[in-house]
Amino acid sequence: MNFKYYISRYLNYKLNKKEYKQKRTVLKSFPSIAFIDPSNACNLKCPLCPTGNGTNQYSKGIMKFSLFKKIYDKLAPYLKELHLYNWGEPLLNKDLANFIKYAKESYSPKIVVSSNLSGFSKKRVSELIRSPVDLISVSVDGTTQESYEKYRVGGNLESVLESLRFMSEIKHKEKLKTRIRWQFIPMKHNQEEIEKAKFLAKSMKLEFRIHRLIVGLNSFDSDSIGNSIKKDSDWFPDKKEYFRYKDINKKYICNFPWDRIILQWDGNVAPCCVITNPSDLFPANWDEPLDSIWNSQYYINAREIITSKKRIKGFVCQKCIDNKGFL
Ligand code: SF4
Ligand code: SF4
Repeated sequence: MNFKYYISRYLNYKLNKKEYKQKRTVLKSFPSIAFIDPSNACNLKCPLCPTGNGTNQYSKGIMKFSLFKKIYDKLAPYLKELHLYNWGEPLLNKDLANFIKYAKESYSPKIVVSSNLSGFSKKRVSELIRSPVDLISVSVDGTTQESYEKYRVGGNLESVLESLRFMSEIKHKEKLKTRIRWQFIPMKHNQEEIEKAKFLAKSMKLEFRIHRLIVGLNSFDSDSIGNSIKKDSDWFPDKKEYFRYKDINKKYICNFPWDRIILQWDGNVAPCCVITNPSDLFPANWDEPLDSIWNSQYYINAREIITSKKRIKGFVCQKCIDNKGFL
């Protein structure tokens, strides 16, 4: 990538921050972060995930390479980070490694993939680790099949661990820079296994990260966060340090519609990652210039609601703020 793009990308990022502080609702800067969903289908059935529990109302699909290219070409000059996942398992898209190669070769943002890695062939796993991806985050919330599958319903722990070992071997043998991360969500049933998981990750030369459980993903727009926490209380671990919602009355100000854009598999846009209701998405025509999407009336509404310039009943950000849905 050309040096001048590093500079213009950096300046765009600085302008992102400035425009957010200024509470601008029509922006001159463009998104610095993109989440593009290669597939919103999944092989697992995690109980608190709208895809896993069947409450995700969006039609299932796999993004085509031609659409990815069309979207990415418009976003790429501004992107610091490209996340290739959202509401499904990205490895179900056979073009995933091609998306990564294409994205890296042209503008080289930091590329992140998050996967459950359960049940995939060595060929698919090898394509991923040998692609120019920067970070592969793998969800493994347990060290025995029994505790792992309590949340990762339908997953196979041995297959995940085998693929992690395989990727780590390739990484070290071929001196790849790709980071591989074991991500663990502490929950009531697996909280005693955190140290063992850390030890296993270390023995496989993997990074390890705790991710605190998020609830209410399928009801953030219709129910208060307090009710979601009560409803899903059986899942939370005992230790306070692993509990995300310490102060649900704190004022949360969202900055997502200023610095990031979220793409569904078919090119429709969302202002953040938590939206699954089709009527809450922002329709987008990717044949038009990026500005017509990024400064569409939908985005302006989102920014005006968040900065308290307007209240729009029924608009997704209004419902979210009123429910403190996404703390
Ligand atoms: S693996 Fe991820 S996308 Fe699939 S059901 Fe579980 S949380 Fe949802
Ligand atoms: S729905 Fe909530 S979290 Fe998402 S962009 Fe709107 S205010 Fe932010």
